[in-house]
Amino acid sequence: MSERNVRVRFAPSPTGYPHIGNIRTALFNWLFARHSGGSFIVRIEDTDVSRKVKGAIEAILDGLRWLGIDWDEGPDIGGDYGPYFQSQRLDIYQKIARLLVADGYAYYCYCSPGRLAKMRAEMAERKESTRSYDRHCRNLSQEERDKFEAQGITPVVRFKTPLDGETSFNDLIKGEVTFDNSTLDDFVLLKSDGYPTYHLANIVDDHLMEISHVLRADEWLSSTPRHILLYSALAYEPPLFTHLPMILGSDGSKLSKRHGAVSITEYRDQGYLPQAMINFLTLLGWSLDDRTELFTTEELVRHFSLERISKTGAIFSQDKLMWMNGHYIRNMSPGELREHLLPFLEKHLPEEVKRPVSREYVQQIIPLIQERLTTFKEAADQFAFFFIDQPDYEPDLLLGKKLTREAAIAALVDALTQLRKLTFEASSLELALRPLASELGMKTGDFFGLLRVATTGSTAAPPLFQTMAVLGKDKCLKRIEAALDKLRR
Ligand code: GLU
Repeated sequence: MSERNVRVRFAPSPTGYPHIGNIRTALFNWLFARHSGGSFIVRIEDTDVSRKVKGAIEAILDGLRWLGIDWDEGPDIGGDYGPYFQSQRLDIYQKIARLLVADGYAYYCYCSPGRLAKMRAEMAERKESTRSYDRHCRNLSQEERDKFEAQGITPVVRFKTPLDGETSFNDLIKGEVTFDNSTLDDFVLLKSDGYPTYHLANIVDDHLMEISHVLRADEWLSSTPRHILLYSALAYEPPLFTHLPMILGSDGSKLSKRHGAVSITEYRDQGYLPQAMINFLTLLGWSLDDRTELFTTEELVRHFSLERISKTGAIFSQDKLMWMNGHYIRNMSPGELREHLLPFLEKHLPEEVKRPVSREYVQQIIPLIQERLTTFKEAADQFAFFFIDQPDYEPDLLLGKKLTREAAIAALVDALTQLRKLTFEASSLELALRPLASELGMKTGDFFGLLRVATTGSTAAPPLFQTMAVLGKDKCLKRIEAALDKLRR
């Protein structure tokens, strides 16, 4: 088996938008394929018609494309093993289900939903929770079957799970995993609408598509014994299995929306960089050593190995993701950063800002903000003061902890007088304003803090004099005048 060419797949069900866990699965498969010179396949498992979500397939593929995860075979590009939508392969599953019945590995079940509900209620009463079907139809006589058929009931096909014994398989991370067959029920293979269940379609396709390794989320581990039994019934060679560690929130529970885990496309829309996402997601369950945190995608492809996937759950930290994104932003050239930033500014700056936003102006701002950015969307909010007419803030912000209204007014009046005389360059601003602080008997920190709020509306802005120089004389004077108005009101 290990000599087989590496062929791995990402097999999303379009039952929702692709979240962090889905994409981490796709990424590990992709890294493994690219590392080993194998093929990465995307297969859409759209057999649960009732749970299909409109737009989910496009969101999944868009998410992958945005991250630079490319596939060799898949729904849009086809390939030698297509079609890659399970909904277009129903005849294959139906044929195999019939074959399993003919060979005695499966049977037709005519139980009505009403009977099943009653059965489950009775089982629950008897506290039997391990099997969800009582195998009522497993040993129907031909006569009984004919009677149901004559009534026009379309049966489902169920797998005849061995009643005793064990099923084992070797998980590449967890090692030997064993399940008692008595804990598995006679699960459905083919539903009465002619659609296969996940179990049947998944293993048939992994076989027909010659998948060598299955890397998937931990939650599928309990399905694997069923799959192993099916492989054996069909005399197919199973792929090698690797169940990826669970992704946990900072509180140690399974990651959910509550922890800020949103659709991957939302990360894109918030202004995270694909490189940062790839780096971050790979470290959710894989590491090279205990130290290295920053990897380019090429480095990850080069180093990736199944052996270094961790056994224990991986903690998702939003702070770490933001830190990483900031790192990749700081590493960009100013021109690159400008091009990334512009669409976010266009979209998210307040309406009053004239569009299109000036490229040249953004170029001037970049050196002031590059070090401070975490995401692009945040930038549109955090640095809106560069673009709007007047920042909005409470007058008390001007006073900080120490200043009295009178002192602040006197300081701003003097500053205005000085500034009116100046050309607005960072060095001349500093040269004029620094001595003014001592003339006013103020600490430079307090004086500059006052000017910072007056000109930007914020206490945490980029370096004051450069900022004022970029804002320009007109705007600064107007803003200081407005600050005086606020204080005098
Ligand atoms: N369709 C399943 C999912 O959405 C695939 C599980 C597997 O990889 O076997 O995760």
